[in-house]
Amino acid sequence: MRLTDSRHDATSFHGCAPRRRQSMIDIVVADITTLEVDAVVNAANGALRGGGGVDGAIHRAAGPQIMTELKLFPGCPTGEAVRTRGYKMKAKYVIHAVGPIWRGGGQSEPALLARAYESAFARAKESGDVKTIAFPAISTGVYRFPKYDAARIALTAMLDHESEYARVIACLFDDEDAVLYREMLTSLRRSR
Ligand code: ADP
Repeated sequence: MRLTDSRHDATSFHGCAPRRRQSMIDIVVADITTLEVDAVVNAANGALRGGGGVDGAIHRAAGPQIMTELKLFPGCPTGEAVRTRGYKMKAKYVIHAVGPIWRGGGQSEPALLARAYESAFARAKESGDVKTIAFPAISTGVYRFPKYDAARIALTAMLDHESEYARVIACLFDDEDAVLYREMLTSLRRSR
């Protein structure tokens, strides 16, 4: 796992005074199924019956029991999320969030993507024991959401919730996406 966002350690010192920890958002390039976190967020589809991309990787890593649990749900509307156990994964939970398919931007796609991140954080909070959580770039694969706007929406939600967690991880699949996220995070922090 490569860390691409510089972090300020809570235990580092500036002179004699402990420096306040600045960032709890880590931007990493990794296969999300390998991360040691309490909850991994999945970019699921509304049927909750598995698929390709990150969804397929999570189902393979978790094993067939995750599908057995998912079948208890009839499906999940776009913008919502459901929580299952992580089974064979290191993560205790998988939070299956359904992002929108990009259809040109006139069908509330940005609001629905923001809601998918909010719903994932809500499912994490309800569990009562999630301190570390990792997100893929929801909707930016086969759902074709433009990456710049998706990064802004994802990181805005993460900034809104970072104080509630020990660690929020934005897990990207390639270096180019990580560079975009790093620049976006710097710019969003500056404007707050
Ligand atoms: P969606 O259908 O929501 O677009 P995808 O799985 O097609 O979901 O892609 C979402 C993002 O997840 C893409 O940026 C893709 O590169 C990334 N991705 C795919 N597999 C993994 C993985 N194993 N770990 C982390 N990110 C992944």
